[in-house]
Amino acid sequence: MAMTSAPGKLTCPQFSGLRRTCPSASTASTARPFLLRRAGGYSAGRSSRTVVAMAGSGKFFVGGNWKCNGTKDSISKLVADLNSAALENDVDIVVAPPFIYIDQVKSSLVDRIDISAQNSWIGKGGAFTGEIRNRAPAYQTPLDGLRQRQIKDQLKTWLVHGAEQLIDIGCKWVILGHSERRHIIGEDDQFIGKKAAYALSQNLKVIACIGEKLDEREAGKTFDVCFQQLKGFADYVTSWENIVIAYEPVWAIGTGKVASPEQAQEVHAAIRDWLKKSVSTEVASETRIIYGGSVSGSNSADLAKKEDIDGFLVGGASLKGPEFATIVNSVTEKKVAA
Ligand code: PEP
Repeated sequence: MAMTSAPGKLTCPQFSGLRRTCPSASTASTARPFLLRRAGGYSAGRSSRTVVAMAGSGKFFVGGNWKCNGTKDSISKLVADLNSAALENDVDIVVAPPFIYIDQVKSSLVDRIDISAQNSWIGKGGAFTGEIRNRAPAYQTPLDGLRQRQIKDQLKTWLVHGAEQLIDIGCKWVILGHSERRHIIGEDDQFIGKKAAYALSQNLKVIACIGEKLDEREAGKTFDVCFQQLKGFADYVTSWENIVIAYEPVWAIGTGKVASPEQAQEVHAAIRDWLKKSVSTEVASETRIIYGGSVSGSNSADLAKKEDIDGFLVGGASLKGPEFATIVNSVTEKKVAA
């Protein structure tokens, strides 16, 4: 991968459990022009940007991944809490309810918060049991051959693309590559990359998750794993404009063991460096890289202060409206740190 094969590397013994090498010293000067401006002591030229410490050029981003949790009642309560929360303006906020509650959430949640799906199919709908499509055709069996052919033709017109279905029910985003789908369901880099490309082609924005397992970190393979997973996206997507990268170390997801701000920052900087070398300086500069893994109302502020942490993907704590609001509002730490 780019990081391990690049010449002129600096060794970082203090992070020897994480990796054997660190990004080149030139990274910040080319991949993060905004930070350079800040470091150089002059004010931001783009007056439209109010989050002055952002390493990328977008807004702070906070996503809530509700996973396979909730009932109609608990989701009503969560939505009510979010609707009444005081939320900072300078943040893109997205929640990802279970598919079956998306409609309920969409119709009751304030427009200020966008909806994400937790998954989307790799291409057009069809004979893919359990995947999401728009509407079921009503017909009676038994069917003769002619009727079957007619229905097949009808289906061709009814079937919509997986991602289109999500747009249809009000989703703007989809989470792809989440570790639970990689390691429990068994999705591989190529499959995830193709899903991302398809979702983007259907105008869904993608929260692209990557992250190493504990044994991989302990073996010093964190960067290799993250870069390999990034490559899985890069091999298929043609534009990164509508992608947010979520670095989520698997050992931190749902475990209560949050990465330290330094640990997270180090990987985020390496991801940005990989983007610069493998995609472009512009993409490295503009792509938001968010952190996920046991983010809570009590640790988000310290994480937010780090230069390359552009927001969060939150699991457990996103099920509690007031705590999620606290995480969203940790953008203020970002502003103070600027
Ligand atoms: C996640 O599911 O993306 C996640 C980060 O979960 P948690 O915040 O519970 O660790």
